[in-house]
Amino acid sequence: MLADLKRDFENEGGIVAPLKILFLASEVDPLAKTGGLADVAGALPIALHELGCDIRIATPFYRHIKEGNFDIELFMKGITVQVGRLRLTDDVYCTYLNKKVPVYLFNKEEFYDRNQLYGTHNGDYFDNVERFVYLSKGALEFCLKSEFIPDIIHCNDWHAALVPVYLKTLYKEEPLFKRTASVLTIHNLAYQGIYPPDEYSVTGLPNELYTPEGIEFWGNINFLKGGILFADAITTVSKRYSHEIQSPEFGFGLDDILRNRRADLYGILNGVKYSVWDPSVDPFIAKKYDVSHLSGKKACKKDLVNALHMDPSYMNKPILAVISRLTEQKGCDLLGEIVNELMRMDVGFVLLGEGERKYNKMFGAVRREHIGKAGIIIGYNNQLAHKIMAGADIFLMPSRYEPCGLTQMYALRYGAVPIVRDTGGLSDTIQEFVPETGKGTGFKFLDYSASSFMEEIKNALQLFENKNMWTRIVKNGMKADFSWKRSAQKYLEVYKKASATTSLA
Ligand code: ADP
Repeated sequence: MLADLKRDFENEGGIVAPLKILFLASEVDPLAKTGGLADVAGALPIALHELGCDIRIATPFYRHIKEGNFDIELFMKGITVQVGRLRLTDDVYCTYLNKKVPVYLFNKEEFYDRNQLYGTHNGDYFDNVERFVYLSKGALEFCLKSEFIPDIIHCNDWHAALVPVYLKTLYKEEPLFKRTASVLTIHNLAYQGIYPPDEYSVTGLPNELYTPEGIEFWGNINFLKGGILFADAITTVSKRYSHEIQSPEFGFGLDDILRNRRADLYGILNGVKYSVWDPSVDPFIAKKYDVSHLSGKKACKKDLVNALHMDPSYMNKPILAVISRLTEQKGCDLLGEIVNELMRMDVGFVLLGEGERKYNKMFGAVRREHIGKAGIIIGYNNQLAHKIMAGADIFLMPSRYEPCGLTQMYALRYGAVPIVRDTGGLSDTIQEFVPETGKGTGFKFLDYSASSFMEEIKNALQLFENKNMWTRIVKNGMKADFSWKRSAQKYLEVYKKASATTSLA
């Protein structure tokens, strides 16, 4: 078999065939994005490609992608996928990330030609089980038909979590997959893909699996649980979060099965795509700058103040910023508790986000009450997100829990000093600033309370008054390096461990 041949070859010091990886993700930046998963799927495969892997991505051919300005070609006509009782046939298209990593786009108009990726404000799309069973099984059928037989299928989040289950059940006897191992990455354990039991037949999985030891979960189907049980290796997006999810507090009901699989569970920090998120190359900001030439940041602050119609006096005052989905996870209730006090302080406040209706409303009201002081935009705007990073002095991220978090790492590179809750990836990426040593990159608070949060804001504002110290902390953050290469190397190690399990099978 290929994997054996490769290993023998390696032992003999020959030329090693590249590791073949199929990377399955429900959103990939810049094609389609609702959050950090897209950032990861748009960057990690490129880093793995640069390490010599033959990696290809599979994702749905959503309406936004069709309507976007991408170079897309038909790649394969007619893959057939069994979804429940239906045999569905459609085509696979192809585009490339950075002109080198193929992205296979699974067409199925009745599933993916919609305004949103997963649902509307009223909830999930009614047929999400069908939509993601089609993607998961379709990916396997595509491999068989195209003869791209991966050593690793890297499945991301619940949308792809049935693939490890399929490999060990419906496709168990498929000789071409004998050496294919699966890796599941959990980007956020809160999203598990839980659906009513009457949808189970859509998955095509055997009835014996629908038990509490299998993929049944309190009377429902749980996609992610299936992935955790069956994947050859499991990763999540920071070391701290990999420990946290094994506890009842952060485990969302899956902590016991994660503890059972802790020998195969790895925490690998996400990286930053510095070709996109770095003020020295960013096309969206008013003036480029870097750690040795900070003056451009002033022009960016001015640009932000103008863009959000804030009073020009805020040019000379600290600006605190938030860019976030407006959800409970992100600490919006804490922000709500402190926002009035913040409005009484001599600072500017910027927020870009959308999410739960109650938070959209709450911050909309703050905007109307504090015109000129609060630059609040309820919505999604990538260009503005870049401008805010470049113009802000302080970046707030009071998350209740945070698997990794990317925006605090972006903020570091843009010299916006993060104030974060000490949890998950925020703990792993931000070092508390210690004035005595001049080391550290931000401010952290542990207690999930408005008073602890406000105390850190006041500490930061006090430091802001000391220009030397402030420049020090800004520069410390800008020098921090979270490039993808290091993380990609860690994924390679996990792939090797996962592959080893299939060679033992
Ligand atoms: P999560 O994936 O939990 O939403 P992350 O910090 O990992 O959080 O990633 C969020 C990504 O989405 C970042 O790239 C951030 O800039 C972007 N983002 C979040 N909200 C908005 C918004 N309202 N407008 C533009 N970009 C946003």
